[in-house]
Amino acid sequence: MNSSKQRLVVLGSTGSIGVNTLDVVDRHPDRFEIFALTAATRVDVLLAQCVRHKPTFAVMASEPHGKALQQQCAALGLGTQVLWGSAAIEMVAAHELVDMVMAAIVGAAGLAPCLAAARTGKRLLLANKEALVVGGQLFIDTVAAGGAVLLPIDSEHSAIFQSLPEDPQTWATRVDKIILTASGGPFRTRNPAALCDVTPEEACAHPNWIMGRKISVDSATMMNKALEVIEARYLFGMAPRKIEVVIHPQSVIHSMVQYVDNSVVAQLGTPDMRGPIAYGLSWPHRIASGASALDFASMAALTFETFDNDGHRARFPGLALAWDVLEGALGSPAVLNAANEIAVEAFLERRIRFDQIHRVNVQTLESLLPAPPASLADLLELDAQARATARAVVAGLHG
Ligand code: NAD
Ligand code: MG
Repeated sequence: MNSSKQRLVVLGSTGSIGVNTLDVVDRHPDRFEIFALTAATRVDVLLAQCVRHKPTFAVMASEPHGKALQQQCAALGLGTQVLWGSAAIEMVAAHELVDMVMAAIVGAAGLAPCLAAARTGKRLLLANKEALVVGGQLFIDTVAAGGAVLLPIDSEHSAIFQSLPEDPQTWATRVDKIILTASGGPFRTRNPAALCDVTPEEACAHPNWIMGRKISVDSATMMNKALEVIEARYLFGMAPRKIEVVIHPQSVIHSMVQYVDNSVVAQLGTPDMRGPIAYGLSWPHRIASGASALDFASMAALTFETFDNDGHRARFPGLALAWDVLEGALGSPAVLNAANEIAVEAFLERRIRFDQIHRVNVQTLESLLPAPPASLADLLELDAQARATARAVVAGLHG
């Protein structure tokens, strides 16, 4: 290995963010090398990535998929060592030879490997917002204690990070509020009463971004924005009431910071995750990302809708839950996240209706008063408890 290159682990390399990360890495063979790739089920895609990037390790989440990949790598004579299981995913995330970890697993399943990378002082590129929503302050404290550097990959949070002053010590006195933009997703203009009939295919057809199925459904309910409000609260240490959401259907402005003098600094770009990924990989410098430039000459009007107008509160009831859980009992964001993961899975499997996702989330929050979590073990137990509660709510809905 060439020690002048940054050694990168991509957790969730077969997903939308993982594939985009490898695309950026491919543009800079002199800067980065892939140390490990991990995935859940797509053996064929991970195999092709191993052929291309020749990582030291490839890890599948489960043994059957791991053994299948191991056989195929051996058949091709690849030198990659194939492992499986969550302990192996954590091992590569914490490996002493690793400089950077792209956290692109979807859901709370990514929390333990994120904390492993944080504890061992990596540059942690966080796409996996659910991990921070579940981990909360414990996640942030682990980053600080491990001497890790946490950089946002979510486009809104990357935009805010790019719009904030460099010195975090100045944020509290200079920043008035953070304004997260939201596209409004595929149902922005739908009659709220008609949302009970929408299919998983319609919910996953996002107007501006191509993403994994879970985040696509979250964008359609705007639970994605709720998770992002919670993510912003922890990433930037901002009081919940200083975080606002504005609907901006064109997704050109990726988010904004309003200062105490009412000056607003925004970050703009085409909707292409390779922009924030390249920024995270190269910060504090910049490298080519592959994203195309904005074409101001052909750009249509930029428009904005506030959340209080146009029926958005009735259409997107889940957004308000972000502030409720941030102001509620410690551990409530983890309960909301778990409920939402179970509800989205049930909707994608056509076991509940689209509008019932919110019911599952609210009923789970109402049924479970969390004990304050003080460790990763507490968080994982709370996550499991909330999932069991949400599954019971789902069963009650379609039973
Ligand atoms: P995806 O479904 O396309 O990919 C998920 C990846 O995680 C896959 O490689 C999968 O194999 C792996 N994975 C899933 N479950 C796992 C498990 N239990 N254990 C180990 N690995 C597992 O999802 P995505 O759209 O790439 O999103 C990934 C994360 O990034 C999510 O948290 C999402 O909210 C966030 N994010 C995505 C986008 C986007 O444009 N896609 C934008 C911002 C943030
Ligand atoms: Mg986002």
